[in-house]
Amino acid sequence: MSDRESLLRELPAVDRLLQEPALAELLGRMPRRLVLAAVQETLQGCREKIIHGAGGTGDGLSDLSVTSLAREAVERAQKRARPGLRPVINATGVILHTNLGRAPLAAAASEAVAGIMEQYCNLEIDLEDGRRGSRQAHLEGLLCELTGAEAAVVVNNNAAAVFLILNSCAAGKEVIVSRGELVEIGGSFRLPEVMAASGARLVEVGTTNKTYRRDYEGAVSDETAALMKVHTSNYHMIGFTASVDAAALASLAHDRNLLALEDLGSGLLFDPTRYGLPPEPRVQDSIAAGMDLVTFSGDKLLGGPQAGIIVGREELIRRVRTNQLARVMRVDKLAVAALESTLRLCLDEERAVRSIPAWRALTFSLAGLQERAEALAATLKERFGEGAVGLWEGTSRVGGGALPTAELPTVLLSLQPPRLEAAVVAGRLRCGDPPVLVRLQQEKLLFDLRTVFPEQDPLLLRALFAAAGGGTPQ
Ligand SMILES: *Cc1c(COP(=O)(O)O)cnc(C)c1O
Repeated sequence: MSDRESLLRELPAVDRLLQEPALAELLGRMPRRLVLAAVQETLQGCREKIIHGAGGTGDGLSDLSVTSLAREAVERAQKRARPGLRPVINATGVILHTNLGRAPLAAAASEAVAGIMEQYCNLEIDLEDGRRGSRQAHLEGLLCELTGAEAAVVVNNNAAAVFLILNSCAAGKEVIVSRGELVEIGGSFRLPEVMAASGARLVEVGTTNKTYRRDYEGAVSDETAALMKVHTSNYHMIGFTASVDAAALASLAHDRNLLALEDLGSGLLFDPTRYGLPPEPRVQDSIAAGMDLVTFSGDKLLGGPQAGIIVGREELIRRVRTNQLARVMRVDKLAVAALESTLRLCLDEERAVRSIPAWRALTFSLAGLQERAEALAATLKERFGEGAVGLWEGTSRVGGGALPTAELPTVLLSLQPPRLEAAVVAGRLRCGDPPVLVRLQQEKLLFDLRTVFPEQDPLLLRALFAAAGGGTPQ
């Protein structure tokens, strides 16, 4: 009998492995099918290594004992049992990172969600008179108060909001948009395509860098329903440019009996220049400028849950709300709870800026970031040596298609892991628990603490020690 065959015959049976104490213990707290799958996978992996191993002698199979196979199966089972969607530490310095879930919720918003999640709630009941109410009632008053609009309606996301206002107010008609504003937002939201799907016909005017009032005027016809402005939220044009501002566009639209619509994208409620950030229009500015309907996201600079918010004139909002398609993009109760709570925080700007994580990150002081980075660097140096650790000046990004020109000065903590490639360590950090996402630059791992919550610093340190072979921090 060949070595190969004898090795295969020595492999324990599935049932034998399941009797190992470590696996028997898992069976008590994990679904049986999951543990079974992990055991089968382990044995199959082993069989393949025996069959394809060099020379058929099972090279690379250091230990075929039942204990070691059980250990591997336990690891596989634990991996299978881990939730797919998990919290991660964001050390990239991109505050609204769409791939990392955009805005983390404020504690109050998360408590509001937890508070209704396992209970019945008054989502669509008017508690005063016991009659059927609207889920929008929990949000509309707050939105009107914060933006100065007459009415508001919330849907699933801003792409849906744009689609819905166009479908409700301009289906079969023309909507005039500047060429400089036909943007593609991350995740391939392209206004021309959304517009086409909504049934409105896009009429492009102006050139990429310049659009004047007369360009819109010249394009108005009997078929025109609206003039639309789209905030170029993820890029900025500099140099020889011209565009028509919200007030001028609204006044032209109204002179011609047309609607003025605006897709603002990020939905800023606070003046960014107060915090040293570049100017950008707020929702209330667009309403004050005379826009009839304005749309924005819930999870960009508002710092709330994914949602598409539409504010504007009452009669138009009614049209949007009664559109059959509004039902297709209905906001769910968990988002209603989170959004209501976030909007309540926004009634008090100081408090909002302190408690909404995206705003906290936007307004962290450089001195505070420096202090945290220095503390982490000191511990890292003890383990990895002076030369492996550094502090650098850098910039954080707002991300999420908001404030594209904002350069937030930050401190970057760098680690050049000894003996290991930076990319390997970055991969281990991603697969750790919790996963850590970092920047990689020229064989260095870079950590921007602006997007790491201060209370996560010890966790980050522990993850780094584990991934870069440093044991556990003291
Ligand atoms: C982000 C953005 C959108 C899409 O918003 P979602 O909430 O992600 O659907 C649409 N328009 C503009 C201008 C944006 O910035």
